[in-house]
Amino acid sequence: MSHVIGPGSRIGLMGGGQLGRMFILAARSMGYRVDVFVPEEDSPAGQLADREIPRDYLDEEAVREFARGVDVVTLEFENIPLQAMTWAAEHCEVRPRGDILHTTQNRAREKEFLAAHGFPLPAWAHVVTADDLAAAAARIGYPAILKTASFGYDGKGQRQLKSPYDLRSFDPSGGPFVLEAKVPFVMELSVIVARGLDGQTVCYPVCENIHRDHILDTTIVPARVSSEVSERATALAKDIAEKIGLVGVMAVEMFLLDDGTLLINELAPRPHNSGHFSIDACVTSQFEQQLRAVCGLPLGSPELLRPCAMANLLGDVWAGGEPDWAAAAAFGDVKIHLYGKAEPRPGRKMGHLTAFGTTPDEALARVVAAREALVSGRRK
Ligand code: AMP
Repeated sequence: MSHVIGPGSRIGLMGGGQLGRMFILAARSMGYRVDVFVPEEDSPAGQLADREIPRDYLDEEAVREFARGVDVVTLEFENIPLQAMTWAAEHCEVRPRGDILHTTQNRAREKEFLAAHGFPLPAWAHVVTADDLAAAAARIGYPAILKTASFGYDGKGQRQLKSPYDLRSFDPSGGPFVLEAKVPFVMELSVIVARGLDGQTVCYPVCENIHRDHILDTTIVPARVSSEVSERATALAKDIAEKIGLVGVMAVEMFLLDDGTLLINELAPRPHNSGHFSIDACVTSQFEQQLRAVCGLPLGSPELLRPCAMANLLGDVWAGGEPDWAAAAAFGDVKIHLYGKAEPRPGRKMGHLTAFGTTPDEALARVVAAREALVSGRRK
């Protein structure tokens, strides 16, 4: 078992957000050390790290020194410049590999990869120029969504086109783009899949995701779909993880149509907001799974212990002043997670709540009530 990076080893984490913070909590409880490389100080992950290196991702010497000091490098944010991961890979293992980042950092490359392997996608086209856009819109129809190919998340860099009239305001300077058909989904789903160094793959129960203003609002697990849909969704995620050669954790976001069709929306080669339920509701959390995968350990059981629901706490919850923590804590069966961010800007992910139930509906009602109590001070 010489390839195992055991407890006591030092892991290098690229990125300093909440996903890194929760990864560090898992790594610390298994006895690992974690250094964080992030271009800011007092980051959510840096607050809990052994060391926080507040340098730019394109500071070559700083990246090389960081990688020389750790046993493996992983990431919590897929938009880390590929160049930084390539430098790091000259000094230690980098998991997931840089080429997976290369594919998933760009929506067009990601769709090309998925299409080349026969995975189902909404109709889409590359767009660079106004002529490309006109041709793509004529083929795909309306409504359609124009997305920047790079650096888009939570609906950033997206614009809906409702009619040819909307083509007039096209500005090619922010491109390249992809144009996608707007899909009349009945539900959004995601599957968190982990794949180990030995090729072992495990999938978490399918998540049902409800978005508000393009940002994840609540996740319900297991998703309220038939076992046939959930088996197909799981099979897709497993197949994608294998075809892309993942070592680590990946989220596969999907749209479910009313005829049962599943279409892939996007991939994230890291733990995902919709997988946060796994911290409190599964035998092994998605973060511990990332740790196990990147350290070459066998994966843990993804078994769900109880139906559950997760509700994000965005900065908006702070709009009327400090939330009523005691009112939320009075829900003694609801778990409160906060990410150590000082400034609660609207739309900023500050934390989340997880609640349980005998059914997914009961868990959802409970988590929504706890979040309302934070705002209104109403106690259970
Ligand atoms: P994305 O950043 O691409 O995951 O988009 C964020 C959210 O926008 C998704 O979770 C959907 O709610 C919505 N969305 C994105 N693309 C589409 C699409 N092609 N059709 C319908 N809704 C979409």
